[in-house]
Amino acid sequence: NNFQNYKLSTDITRALSSLEYNLPTEVQRKVIPIALKKCDLVVKSQTGSGKTAAFSIPICELIDWEENKPQALVLTPTRELAVQVTEDMTNIGRYKRIKANAIYGKQSFARQKLELKQKNHVVVGTPGRVLDHIQKGTLSLERLNFLVVDEADEMLNMGFIDQVEAIITELPTARVTMLFSATLPPDIESLCRKYMKDPVHIEI
Ligand code: AMP
Repeated sequence: NNFQNYKLSTDITRALSSLEYNLPTEVQRKVIPIALKKCDLVVKSQTGSGKTAAFSIPICELIDWEENKPQALVLTPTRELAVQVTEDMTNIGRYKRIKANAIYGKQSFARQKLELKQKNHVVVGTPGRVLDHIQKGTLSLERLNFLVVDEADEMLNMGFIDQVEAIITELPTARVTMLFSATLPPDIESLCRKYMKDPVHIEI
């Protein structure tokens, strides 16, 4: 019951040791093997369960370092969470030199535009600003392999769900989608039915 079971590359296992993540949490034990097989996932779990690493570990493992365009998009309801996820992703991807970038409102669009022109493996952001970049052509998602919708019920509460849906319709359909939520209200369930492929349901 440790991270060795997942046959992760040494770049990732080294990072987990540096972070002193010695044993996977419950959500990590359930999510990591399925995500590594590139299956869609709906995960009902709370913050504090280790869910960020649960999706960041398989994403960092499966990223192709050579590809310059973003391969993963993580949508979060708040900029604080976007910053936190970017930090966690950067730490887990440290030895693989994974580049993660947070984009959110109330920050210079022009600066984000420049950052998005650089190499980016992972983009983490709030729906409004992400959609803005997609519509202005400053965020290219043609190489996207992974979509994470984090705290989906909060997105719904904050009125972001239409923006989330508008973003999803812009993404390649050959991708892995993982949705995390503390609760699964009907609007989230229908989003899952509409945009996910036979998702595995996990409840913590
Ligand atoms: P999260 O639920 O993603 O907000 O994570 C909660 C906290 O648990 C964060 O501070 C993580 O750094 C920490 N954490 C995540 N996974 C592990 C692990 N396997 N071992 C120890 N700490 C962890």
